[in-house]
Amino acid sequence: MRVTVIGAGYVGLVTGAGLAALGHRVRVGEADQERVRQLSSGHVPIFEPDLDRLVRDGLGNGLLSFHRSNIEAAEGAEVVFIAVPTPERDDGAADVSIVEWVIGEVGSHLQEGALVVLKSTVPVGSAKRFQDLLDGVGANVVVLSNPEFLREGSAVADFFHPDRIVIGSKDQRAVEQMVQLYTALDAPIVVTDAVSSEMIKYGANAYLATRVTFANAMANLCEAVGADARDVLLGMGYDRRIGFHFLNPGPGFGGSCFPKDTRALVAIAEESGYDFALLKGVIEVNDEQARRIVAKVREAVGGTLDGTVVALWGLAFKAGTDDTRDSPSLRLADYLRAEGARVRAYDPHVRSVPELEMAADALDATKAADVLLIATEWGEFQNVDLGEVRDAMRGDAIVDARNLLDPGAVRRLGLRYSGVGR
Ligand code: NAD
Repeated sequence: MRVTVIGAGYVGLVTGAGLAALGHRVRVGEADQERVRQLSSGHVPIFEPDLDRLVRDGLGNGLLSFHRSNIEAAEGAEVVFIAVPTPERDDGAADVSIVEWVIGEVGSHLQEGALVVLKSTVPVGSAKRFQDLLDGVGANVVVLSNPEFLREGSAVADFFHPDRIVIGSKDQRAVEQMVQLYTALDAPIVVTDAVSSEMIKYGANAYLATRVTFANAMANLCEAVGADARDVLLGMGYDRRIGFHFLNPGPGFGGSCFPKDTRALVAIAEESGYDFALLKGVIEVNDEQARRIVAKVREAVGGTLDGTVVALWGLAFKAGTDDTRDSPSLRLADYLRAEGARVRAYDPHVRSVPELEMAADALDATKAADVLLIATEWGEFQNVDLGEVRDAMRGDAIVDARNLLDPGAVRRLGLRYSGVGR
């Protein structure tokens, strides 16, 4: 099929390169000219395992191309995916102005009968709203919802092996065409109306964020009663009704989706007259969690952070990605610096963050540090020689906000250890 993807970010690039790998002819429209130049020469500007190979294959066999003009990219397409950002507005709702702008831009250039597919996470009612908008300019197209569930860090694998594909449309022909587009993928397909499809995306993210927060709240309580949260959550997780996913205590959820999508769902609920108290509580507990980690760091250095040096391991919002959007690590760095600490950071895949002092490697970050704070669960941190860390540090404390290290091994080296819920 002739496919267009607008927006070459984590979602658009994976979708575009993935669909090209399935044999579709894919044109990607992208506003960032430098990104188009890099991608056209086979350089992928984000870290996502296996994506380089997929993009190079697509360029090589001529099925994938990148365009500075969305109109040029969209012309002649049977299916046009919208994968541009939907950031958070001041009131918590999702800002769909970029989606709206793009649809307005390409609307009158779409071929008769084309499908406009909303991959961006958009508020409930968006498909209908954009359908009305396109009907208004006389475009004979169908707008439908097809939310994205990929996880950064395993996005390519998730594209080829999705847990499910959700298609939200009441238009039979559009649904059949979408099923045809994904026919090479072996996944259950949920066909529903657009509003329900839009709700599935928010519901899934809100539920996962709730699980993370439940684990954090349990960990906080375990600390208070003297239980080990790792054992508690392990014992809970073996229950097949519960399972282990997203039950790891830590510094709170972050990233480009959970924070904004939970707040957007609260806004959707408010707008429709439902008080989503549960989700509001989740957001509140999550906001507190970073403060609790800062309190641990403060305590580890004797009660005041002013004038201390904190080594910060990890900046990405989770391991496996270079994405720092709404990362708990950056939240922690801000809080620590606001209390007068000097923060020296290292992340295997994040090379620089504005105004943050970066170290050359994990060990370098710990030089003359009073405390080491582990904020992202990169496996390579487990392989750093903690004896060398101890010798490099000025202080002797490790705050492990991801429960990555073995507390016994740390303590045997003469270092103090503080985890989450243990
Ligand atoms: P991103 O910021 O990584 O990528 C968006 C891309 O769109 C950027 O390259 C940007 O330059 C480009 N862009 C912006 N305005 C444009 C325009 N007018 N024309 C063409 N291109 C334009 O964002 P993302 O993480 O890929 O997220 C995109 C959407 O998908 C959001 O709605 C997000 O909530 C949703 N989503 C993201 C994830 C995820 O894990 N990142 C998962 C599921 C859903």
